[in-house]
Amino acid sequence: RSKEVSRGGYEFFDHSILENLLRTRELEPALRQAITRNELHLMYQPQVCISGGEVVGVEALIRWESREKGALSPNEFIPLAESTGLIVPIGEWVLREACTQLREWHDEGWTELKMAVNVSVVQLKRESFIETVTTILNETGVSPRSLVLEVTESGIMDNVERATQILGALSSMGIGIALDDFGTGFASLTLLKEFPVEQIKIDRSFVSNMETDVESATIVSATIMLGHKLGLRVIGEGVETTRQLEFLRNEDCEEAQGYLFSKPMCSDDLVEWMQGCDTNKPAYFPEVVASQ
Ligand code: C2E
Ligand code: MG
Ligand code: MG
Ligand code: MG
Repeated sequence: RSKEVSRGGYEFFDHSILENLLRTRELEPALRQAITRNELHLMYQPQVCISGGEVVGVEALIRWESREKGALSPNEFIPLAESTGLIVPIGEWVLREACTQLREWHDEGWTELKMAVNVSVVQLKRESFIETVTTILNETGVSPRSLVLEVTESGIMDNVERATQILGALSSMGIGIALDDFGTGFASLTLLKEFPVEQIKIDRSFVSNMETDVESATIVSATIMLGHKLGLRVIGEGVETTRQLEFLRNEDCEEAQGYLFSKPMCSDDLVEWMQGCDTNKPAYFPEVVASQ
């Protein structure tokens, strides 16, 4: 057996790794030009208050329509952007675009709307990050209180001190910090203790399994309780069914986000969608759902 392995030599080599490598090398030059070629845009997904039914905020989600490769999901290119450092200019573009859009919506009368932007640790750890954020807020006239930065724990743990310092500074400016994909990593609880977090987002994997699997349901309930005991707002991600929404409501979860309300939309569609929401009738949103 060992002979076979050593003769083959490739036995240990995962072909998907090779494919990824090749794909990455192909993709990098294209990604490098994505901003200047205008190939990036944002989609917005509503975040809804469970008890009142109103839209509280939107999450900005990046899309890349590559000339050569067509539409690519962020899961395909964000890791590449992170490993090449391209996430720094891309992340800055996202923040500026999202804040510019939010400013427009505030001017159009959606004054309470918040904007949640995903931030990579690679961005966060740059010396210039706080300055970048401050500049963009000043440029666009968006209040720090209207901005939420979503961070995941991955990568944060190798320099908790620095991350804590930066998040602390952003938080004291009034910017909200949300812990994204909560429960999927190993350090979630440590982070809650160390970081100035004000919101946790329960990962979609738990929400989508909670109807069929007791463990997921327990994790969801316990996370909501934990969040509340720590004085945090909790949002359920990836809510797709009214039963999931009911479950979150029974557990007093504050907010929900997911296909049940809407998939991520372009800015015009989002406005139309918000106009179609009847906030006086939170009879657990079937009509909002039906219109989607
Ligand atoms: P995330 O921040 O956890 O965003 C939620 C993802 O779940 C989004 O995928 C969204 O479209 C999807 N989603 C929301 N509701 C549902 C649902 O009910 N069912 C299902 N099946 N999916 C749902 P998307 O847009 O493909 O983004 C994937 C990830 O890429 C994001 O996860 C985030 O980690 C990253 N990402 C997206 N935009 C940015 C960005 O501008 N900067 C950075 N650094 N990362 C980003
Ligand atoms: Mg997010
Ligand atoms: Mg998430
Ligand atoms: Mg994610």
